[in-house]
Amino acid sequence: MNNKRILIWYRRDLRLHDHKPMYQALQQEAQIIPLYCFDERQFAKTSFGFPKTGAFRSQFLLEAVADLRNSLSQLGSNLIVRRGLPEKIIPSLAKELEISAVYFHGEVTSEELAVEAALQKALSQIKISVKRFWGNTLYHPDDLPFSIEQIPELFTNFRKSVEKKSSVASSFAVPQELPPLPDINLGELPQLSDLGLEAPKFDSRAVLDFKGGETAALARLDSYIWSGDYLKDYKKTRNGMLGADYSSKFSPWLALGCLSPRLIYEQVQEYEAQRVKNDSTYWLIFELLWRDFFYFIGTKHGDRIFRQSGLQGITISWKEDWTRFKLWQEGKTGFPLVDANMRELATTGFMSNRGRQNVASFLTKNLGINWQMGAEWFESCLIDYDVCSNWGNWNYTAGVGNDARGFRYFNIPKQSKNYDPQGEYLRHWLPELSSIKGDLIHETGKLSAQDQKIFGVRLGVDYPRPVVNFFQSVKANEKTYNAAVELAKKQ
Ligand SMILES: Cc1cc2nc3c(=O)[nH]c(=O)nc-3n(C[C@H](O)[C@H](O)[C@H](O)COP(=O)(O)OP(=O)(O)OC[C@H]3O[C@@H](n4cnc5c(N)ncnc54)[C@H](O)[C@@H]3O)c2cc1C
Repeated sequence: MNNKRILIWYRRDLRLHDHKPMYQALQQEAQIIPLYCFDERQFAKTSFGFPKTGAFRSQFLLEAVADLRNSLSQLGSNLIVRRGLPEKIIPSLAKELEISAVYFHGEVTSEELAVEAALQKALSQIKISVKRFWGNTLYHPDDLPFSIEQIPELFTNFRKSVEKKSSVASSFAVPQELPPLPDINLGELPQLSDLGLEAPKFDSRAVLDFKGGETAALARLDSYIWSGDYLKDYKKTRNGMLGADYSSKFSPWLALGCLSPRLIYEQVQEYEAQRVKNDSTYWLIFELLWRDFFYFIGTKHGDRIFRQSGLQGITISWKEDWTRFKLWQEGKTGFPLVDANMRELATTGFMSNRGRQNVASFLTKNLGINWQMGAEWFESCLIDYDVCSNWGNWNYTAGVGNDARGFRYFNIPKQSKNYDPQGEYLRHWLPELSSIKGDLIHETGKLSAQDQKIFGVRLGVDYPRPVVNFFQSVKANEKTYNAAVELAKKQ
């Protein structure tokens, strides 16, 4: 080790494995100063007034930071923890500890980029060098067959090119030991109450008891791929909604960087070599490509993913109907599939991909409500919130994304019958409907007065009547959408 000190600023990369800033700093034989800042701006309110980071994700984050601290200390180092603005804390720490360089993983969306810019400015004034690394995607931009500016707008074009012409770089190894920290106040991790939040209650109906951190991430990787051997059936089960293992549930750990997509890729390759290579093993990587796609599209288009007119720039007269929005948030729309999913989200911080597509479609294509309100509610609640995946997917489902397929909606009762044929998921989250037999559970609006008596479910009392007529509302919103698209074409 030489006299050089490099500060590693941890952000959404809370892991030891596949960590390029750490790897590079160790190559220089520098003394490593790991830091995490709890930035109060992340715990403020969204533009519609929801907590930006809700209780489930905040708790997960606290666990992830604690786990990183523990792992670093086992290697002989530790994690300095501070509360405040990184652009203020890092330069002052850099001066105090005579740091020569700051390394970190870059982000791609505006709020995070603004912090990076402010930090770079402050550090350049005190002549401390900064190195920004790319480390959140499966494919490194240098290995793509196009520049970020030329990323295809359609996923299929992106995927086909990448699959044909690019390869995934190997992940960086986990360090075996780290130099000790200089004498410094390490700082305490905040409590949830310090962040203005109450501890979320674990509900035993949740798909998984998600625990933040790399240790839990690696355990899940092992249990999903190896000990549970679920990967071989992923393509068949991935549209499920009930239970831990219909899908990988890697997303919360990916979102905070507790798990690197390249490590997943390597494990899938290993599994293919040792056990089986089939359409399911391919499909998990295919889904990670969606994640990459949204990340690159977010990088390419910047703030356009957040705008109401979306990537396509279509000005639709969305409603801001708070009464109906509340019914959606609370799972009281009278459409069981929507309500079950929204209650799952509010109660556990998670929702399946099938559920997300349906509830987003319902909000935008049936209620005609501003999709940004939905995206912000997801941002607040989701334990796996990821800026690009969330806003990119919402662009798609609202019909303002970069696919040009026009007004597409999910037929909610049909989806319910297809993906929950026995109504088990609905009964799990809507116990008040549990006595309803047969297909009527998917379309409670069709319960006659006699059905209501037989099943003991009174519409409007025990369970809401449908807030809209399904097909009439779709038609009305389609008209609004098509008119907006026509107008956009003329402009
Ligand atoms: C409206 C809407 C909002 C969403 N918001 C988020 C979000 O904030 N964070 C997030 O991680 N995912 C988001 N998704 C994508 C997807 O629903 C979740 O990634 C997935 O449900 C997570 O569960 P899993 O890890 O078991 O997924 P699996 O089915 O096991 O997939 C493996 C991984 O592939 C990636 N992936 C799968 N589907 C998608 C997708 N459609 N888009 C991008 N990546 C995908 C995820 O990283 C996921 O962990 C959203 C989807 C919709 C329709």
